[in-house]
Amino acid sequence: MEKQTPLDAALAGYHHETGVCMLKEDYDGETDEPPSLLLQLSAAVSPLEDFRSKKKKYSVGRTSPLIKSFRRQHYPFVTTREWNDWRWQLRNRIRTPGELATIMLLSEAERCALGNTAAMLPMAVTPYYAALVDRTDPDDPIRRCVIPTGHELLSTDAESDDPLHEEIDSPVPGLVHRYPDRVLFLATDFCSTYCRYCTRSRRVGHAHNLGITRKNWDAALDYIEQHTEIRDVLVSGGDPLTLSDEIIDWLFNRLRRIPHVEIIRAGTKVPAVLPQRITDSLVRVLKKYHPLWINIHFTHPRELTPESCQALARLADAGIPLGSQTVLLKGINDDVGTMKALYHGLLRARVRPYYLYQCDPISGSAHFRTPVAAGLSIIEGLRGHTSGLAVPHYVIDAPQGGGKIPLLPDYFQGRQSGDVVLKNYAGRYFRYPDSI
Ligand code: SF4
Repeated sequence: MEKQTPLDAALAGYHHETGVCMLKEDYDGETDEPPSLLLQLSAAVSPLEDFRSKKKKYSVGRTSPLIKSFRRQHYPFVTTREWNDWRWQLRNRIRTPGELATIMLLSEAERCALGNTAAMLPMAVTPYYAALVDRTDPDDPIRRCVIPTGHELLSTDAESDDPLHEEIDSPVPGLVHRYPDRVLFLATDFCSTYCRYCTRSRRVGHAHNLGITRKNWDAALDYIEQHTEIRDVLVSGGDPLTLSDEIIDWLFNRLRRIPHVEIIRAGTKVPAVLPQRITDSLVRVLKKYHPLWINIHFTHPRELTPESCQALARLADAGIPLGSQTVLLKGINDDVGTMKALYHGLLRARVRPYYLYQCDPISGSAHFRTPVAAGLSIIEGLRGHTSGLAVPHYVIDAPQGGGKIPLLPDYFQGRQSGDVVLKNYAGRYFRYPDSI
């Protein structure tokens, strides 16, 4: 009989409802039942008010008052141990309009979309992240990121399901090879919480399990092995940190054994939406595979709770360089003040702002997209006005597979008599004697 590998064993424990891969003995057989302990929304004063105060700093502690209050109100019988267990958070994700309606007042636009989720990216929110949502304001930035509205059902001609042509640039399923020396490994199509503007909404959350079959993983790993020019593998998805410790260990070990793979990177939103996942045992696994870099998807300063900052501290303490990726979103984070608060908070949490993405033209995303001028004016409002460390690269991932193209305000103003004419952050002009 053929020997069962750790991956085979883990895949045998794949839970199709939650999408979580666990070793069989870890899987307790519970189904993804709706939270049974949700209580009716009360008209209590929103604890978000505290977080909105401009004077309030995003402090690093163990539990935020906001989340404590939400738990008391909606999950009074859930123990702290259960709440802090990432598997409990996954099993109790809020996934149906009925569940959502018990914790927030749904708007007409939200009701309309929630009746149509079969036709779009599914809705799922961890109870932890739901605590960050303003339950009475449909325009709340956190809420708009995760609760669908009818706008998603409207597509324009300029939009498509795969605007970046990732499927075309996939030599094997689940692997995108666009740039010369690096690949994107789509390890899973599962996320704990689905972002409504997700570039991969064509494939995440639909239980295709495209990237999680042994056959696909083997094909992707064989491809990386055969292409010696690949020195950098970005493991993403879906969210790869929703895989079990054992699977992550197996995959990173397999990648690390390929001699020409110099660095492994992981792209994740877990510290923002499921910080409970950053356990000591996960960190022990991750730190075996240095040089390992992690880029975390943060959208808004309110995601920087004591819980998420603690998760980031664990990763940083393990020597993992952390970067952030943020999508520029209309009415959510498209102003200098919000971005500055986010980037300052990230730096305090030892995360270097890396990319600010112009929102990709995926189907039904017009309500999220800003003019490019908005991104440029944010960069202009940051560069020179705060530490250079707090200024990310603003990029457009060019449609049809053109790759990331950086955009900068007009600091370079041209040439005069051999000099370069430059404009500084304060709008003053300078000449630099260029040596030609
Ligand atoms: S976490 Fe990333 S992959 Fe998952 S839904 Fe959000 S943007 Fe998409």
